[in-house]
Amino acid sequence: MILDFLIDFIFPKFCVICDREGAFLCRKCKKNLSSALQVCPMCTRPSIYGLTHEYCRKKFGMDGVLSIFDYRNEGVKKVVEAIKFGFNKELVPIVLSGFRKPSNWGKRVVLVPVPLHRYRENWRGFNQAEVIARLMAGKKVSVVSALRRIKATKQQANITDRRARVENIRGSFQIEKGMKKELMGKKVILVDDVFTSGATSRECAKELKKVGVKQVWGLVLAR
Ligand SMILES: [Zn+2]
Ligand SMILES: [Zn+2]
Repeated sequence: MILDFLIDFIFPKFCVICDREGAFLCRKCKKNLSSALQVCPMCTRPSIYGLTHEYCRKKFGMDGVLSIFDYRNEGVKKVVEAIKFGFNKELVPIVLSGFRKPSNWGKRVVLVPVPLHRYRENWRGFNQAEVIARLMAGKKVSVVSALRRIKATKQQANITDRRARVENIRGSFQIEKGMKKELMGKKVILVDDVFTSGATSRECAKELKKVGVKQVWGLVLAR
């Protein structure tokens, strides 16, 4: 379309990885993004399909996590940072194109994005986890903003100590008013951009399970 052409002409796009002009992520760099190794969300050690190890199971714990890209890959890191700190929402559909969405999500499945504190969301203009969730869901499954972040915590990424991360995030989430009924007996797919220590996802899972959610699976862009 002529308008798209004009916009591209006035605001040229550059690859966030190699700086080549034309697109936010060029074909070559996209091909070099490596897939994540699947891990257990409770202990973060390798696990087939990202299933929680039998010995890691907990009453209010997570049932598994599916990680898409490997965060240790330089390119992946640049893409995630461009979304998170560069406010580039348009990168999400580009990086996820080619990722096969489930054709049948099954009954009682809902996608829940990990929320940002409203100060941070207002500042950024969007919640990247919600953008990812809406894209994954398409029209077949609903995205429910079931959680609220009640503490403005430090960025988990800035805390290196594992125990300090757990402390930082504890008590940060609450179930949104009126959501309990909606969640009871459901399978929740908890969506976030990055999974590092997993403390954030596990804290959300705990709140969800306390109100009767049957299963909580994580789905993360990078780990
Ligand atoms: Zn490139
Ligand atoms: Zn484990």
